[in-house]
Amino acid sequence: MKNVAVIGAGTMGNGIAHTFAQSGFKVQLIDIDEKALKKGMGTIAKNLDRMVAKEKITASDKENTLANISTFTNLVEGVEYASLVVEAATENVGLKIKIFEELDSACPDDTILATNTSSISITHIASATSRPEMVIGMHFMNPVPIMKLVEIIRGYNTSDEVTTTIMELSKTLGKVPVEVNDYPGFVANRILMPMLNESIETLYNGVAGVKEIDTVMKLGMAHPMGPLQLADFIGLDICLSILEVMYDGFKNPKYAPCPLLVNMVNAGKLGVKSGEGFYDYSESRKAEKVSSQFS
Ligand code: NAD
Repeated sequence: MKNVAVIGAGTMGNGIAHTFAQSGFKVQLIDIDEKALKKGMGTIAKNLDRMVAKEKITASDKENTLANISTFTNLVEGVEYASLVVEAATENVGLKIKIFEELDSACPDDTILATNTSSISITHIASATSRPEMVIGMHFMNPVPIMKLVEIIRGYNTSDEVTTTIMELSKTLGKVPVEVNDYPGFVANRILMPMLNESIETLYNGVAGVKEIDTVMKLGMAHPMGPLQLADFIGLDICLSILEVMYDGFKNPKYAPCPLLVNMVNAGKLGVKSGEGFYDYSESRKAEKVSSQFS
């Protein structure tokens, strides 16, 4: 496997492209938005600079990594030679179905199609293709170049061979893959999202303020980051859509998103990426402070 196409150059897509490129893969990074591609490449360069400054990689590793990535706005051109596609576009079921239909007709017959979805059914996404046995979840964690875990999600029809290939491939990226089955939220978000939602509910009910809730969880439970800060970092729109998928999938009110979360997303307060969520990220120093906790 040499050529990997990554769909979406946002928070996750640029991290996934960075990780594959740093491991020597040729990466075709694809986004419908030219500005997102520029921003994504800028983020990769900045993150590589930080690794050079910390002497984790050399300046020539940085150059080689950047040289391994080419960018495309046209999906068909970008996936032409891909052995693997990792889709990391916006978390929206209709969009992902459309992308997988396009991938199925544009990719070579033996291309494995992976999705980085946080919660949408792999089996449902796979049903949009004529190769459901070759569709799999590859759920990286944010920030991708740093976090070790990859949740590998087997759809109902995913073959043993494809699962083994992707488990082994994840190890070559320096990651620790964990195999799980395809039910709403998989494992990571099924456990994490109710905790984030309950933290928002605690704020909504006026039990305590943002800093107080985060301090309780950081100092009391040894979490490296408070739940409200983590929700900002993940993106409040992403948190909302994951909760909606679980609420819908299990038909259980315990997953109902807090009205405050819904209101904030409708108001465009999406967390770090929009400049404001539970915290204010308008000054660049503040944003740096948040992301540096992971490096
Ligand atoms: P994002 O909003 O930062 O980026 C999404 C990108 O997809 C945007 O640049 C957008 O232009 C692009 N896009 C939209 N439609 C497209 C299309 N048809 N073709 C190509 N590109 C398209 O989102 P994100 O946070 O990077 O999330 C991407 C995926 O990763 C989602 O499925 C999300 O659930 C999942 N995920 C997110 C996190 C997280 O912490 N943010 C963690 C794990 C998984």
